[in-house]
Amino acid sequence: MPRTFPYQLSDRLFVLGDNLFLTYLLRGETCALIDLAASGTVPLIRKQLRHLAIDDGAIENLVIQHAHWDHVGALPYLREAFPRATVLGSEKAREVLGKTKIVDQFRQNDERWCSRLRDTGVFGELPDFLSYPSIAVDRIIRDNETLSLGGIPVEVLATPGHSACSVSLHLPTEDTVLASDAVGFYLPESDDFLPMFFQSVGLTLASISRLEALGVATLGYGHSLDLLVRGKAAVSHALRRLRERTREFARTIQEMADAGAPEGDLLAAVHRLSYRDFLAELYLPDYLQAVSPYLLKAILSADRAAATTGNAQRGFASDGRDTTSTRTLFSPSRGMR
Ligand SMILES: [Zn+2]
Repeated sequence: MPRTFPYQLSDRLFVLGDNLFLTYLLRGETCALIDLAASGTVPLIRKQLRHLAIDDGAIENLVIQHAHWDHVGALPYLREAFPRATVLGSEKAREVLGKTKIVDQFRQNDERWCSRLRDTGVFGELPDFLSYPSIAVDRIIRDNETLSLGGIPVEVLATPGHSACSVSLHLPTEDTVLASDAVGFYLPESDDFLPMFFQSVGLTLASISRLEALGVATLGYGHSLDLLVRGKAAVSHALRRLRERTREFARTIQEMADAGAPEGDLLAAVHRLSYRDFLAELYLPDYLQAVSPYLLKAILSADRAAATTGNAQRGFASDGRDTTSTRTLFSPSRGMR
């Protein structure tokens, strides 16, 4: 049965937005919006909040999970709608969102993709686009910190690998972890995955293990309500498969590279696995072609790091580099028609 919005996960946790871009609502004594999507979802989020009889004044916190355009695009609009709300994000997210050039690219991507999605009928009305030179983060959230959002405890887990600024949020009272894009996406129909390790394969594997250790009953992502994982056994299986498939995929590409496959073939293999499911609904193929080099680099640079440190488990060392601001990944000049 298709899931509709607002989608209730527990007494106090709801999913808002559109199936392509999810925002979570945590309703305690006050409310928090978590993972802040693209601007095109703002009219939907506001309508869904009204449907839940939540006053604008009840929104106290806006929580960034990572600083990519499709996860902060709505933020300037939500800040305007809820001026009393505090914006929370990791230190690295604050760094990225303070950089005018990057924020300008994010803004252009947000406007262009949201306009395209309106043209294709995904979005109805769009907000009047705002111009903003940077996106302020009011409060830094740190690894292992326990926040109280409207009186509900929320543990912050640094889960890099997709980007250096990624955090997952563990909600013990709701038996849930919200991972945004940190660990990739498990595809239940094919028992396969969508790779998302733009920063590092090794760090992604460590982040997956960290979420596995929580043993929660719900795994929420930043995209596709259809992919939401429910039930402890299902979450455990999804995370185990994400770990296995991430490792296998990196190994396959590495073996192709070792056998002398040209870069074009390696990129085509990465693209074949990436351009599926909601990513194929959201993007045109050439956008994913533009980001494939980052997945490839994360695989091949891990191998080089392993070789130089003499690490026997080649291909999976983590380099820990900060590639959050990876320019062309978000360049509006590429992948747009
Ligand atoms: Zn995303």
